[in-house]
Amino acid sequence: MKLEHGTTICALATGGGMSAIAVIRVSGKDALTLCDAVFSGKKGKRLADQKGYTLHFGHIVQQEKLIDEVLVSVFRGPHSYTGEDTLEISCHGSTYVQQELLSVLYGAGIQPAKPGEFTLRAFLNGKMDLSQAEAVADLIASENRISHDLAIKQLRGGFSEEIAKLRERLMNFAALIELELDFSTEDVEFADRSLLRTLVSHVINVVHNLRESYAMGNVLKQGIPVTIAGRPNAGKSTLLNALLNEERAIVSPIAGTTRDSIEDSLVIEGISFRFIDTAGLRESSDEIERIGVARSYAKIEEAEIVLYLFDATGANQPQVIEDLGILRERTGPVKHIIPVGNKTDQLDDAPDEVYDQLMGAVYISALKKEGIEPLKHQLLQWVNSGLSGPSETIVTNARHADALNRAEVNLFDVRNGLDQHIPGDLLAVDIRAALSTLAEITGEVNNEDLLGHIFGKFCIGK
Ligand code: GDP
Repeated sequence: MKLEHGTTICALATGGGMSAIAVIRVSGKDALTLCDAVFSGKKGKRLADQKGYTLHFGHIVQQEKLIDEVLVSVFRGPHSYTGEDTLEISCHGSTYVQQELLSVLYGAGIQPAKPGEFTLRAFLNGKMDLSQAEAVADLIASENRISHDLAIKQLRGGFSEEIAKLRERLMNFAALIELELDFSTEDVEFADRSLLRTLVSHVINVVHNLRESYAMGNVLKQGIPVTIAGRPNAGKSTLLNALLNEERAIVSPIAGTTRDSIEDSLVIEGISFRFIDTAGLRESSDEIERIGVARSYAKIEEAEIVLYLFDATGANQPQVIEDLGILRERTGPVKHIIPVGNKTDQLDDAPDEVYDQLMGAVYISALKKEGIEPLKHQLLQWVNSGLSGPSETIVTNARHADALNRAEVNLFDVRNGLDQHIPGDLLAVDIRAALSTLAEITGEVNNEDLLGHIFGKFCIGK
């Protein structure tokens, strides 16, 4: 994506539908003078004469026809979002007015903005780095507290700073090693190899933890997938309904009625969970149900948390233990499995006496909606333990995770090189590779394809 220097762009910054007011944004070095051609202020006031951070009432007219009464905010570059002279025209929010105003502006020689072009300009003008620009998109897309928190943190530059710090320390070493190359005939070592090794190991550690945090960051951003698994009639659909507080899944006393998976999300204390009800784990002779069971396992594999639901009245303990064993085997050690005993309303004895071996199980009555809060609490606990991992920063962006992956490989090369006492010039190449991979995150190294890819996903007007 190319920045056409000198062009002035405009786009609708608000939603596009009918609303009380709408905002059209204009940015570029001629923003003020071009808008003056269609703006008529009081006593012939010209926008081009106005200071930044001021607000002006006036009319937008086309061939003497009044299109709308507007309020124009003036921002003078570099003190604006894009770093250029910028106007925000607040107009009435009729879709007709919005379209008319845009076409008047196009007629005045202002170009329609491409997706993300305002933020691209902000990036190219040094108002923010690439990871912050991406955080703007995340912030706009955030629908719950946690994705909002993560986007704000990234927008404020916490992650960029962490990367910058790592790069700076590596850069010092790269510079010392490159200095040695200037004295290559004299066999000197300015860069202490053992110190470098310690540093590289430290950087590997930090990069590794950041990279690992993406697993958590990604699910937090998308909603944590939770699968409800268990034998037919354990009460999976009833539990899903109880969690979602509505009649979402079909509840039926006939075993095997949830034939496909049903999915819905629920925000608990600002964190989004995607609940997936499955067809049950029973091997079946019914063809359709068998497909359902196969899908259940596929859903279990996608999930971060598996709620294994069992009927605390009917099921026998060996069967529950066997099911849990199979689940653990199929899901591997990473998935968090919470055993949940259901139908406690029909139990005479306290559940922990019935299932004393199943330590850590949560007991509920999905039908009576009892024990649902402690269950939600368990889900939150999993999130909180993930958030208090070794890395304070949580990586939420696939592009960053990929760059961190590659940086880790580059850094392994550096460490192996040190262990094998390779010459300084080769070491310098490996360090430079790691530096450049890390720099991709903040955009110090970038290319047009990458920018096009990132900003192309933004909405127009951002
Ligand atoms: P699924 O096959 O696992 O999805 O099970 P359903 O949610 O369809 O429930 C099977 C049957 O168990 C239905 O008749 C439910 O009303 C009943 N059921 C579910 N949860 C409870 C509960 O907590 N207590 C009692 N007594 N019955 C329940």
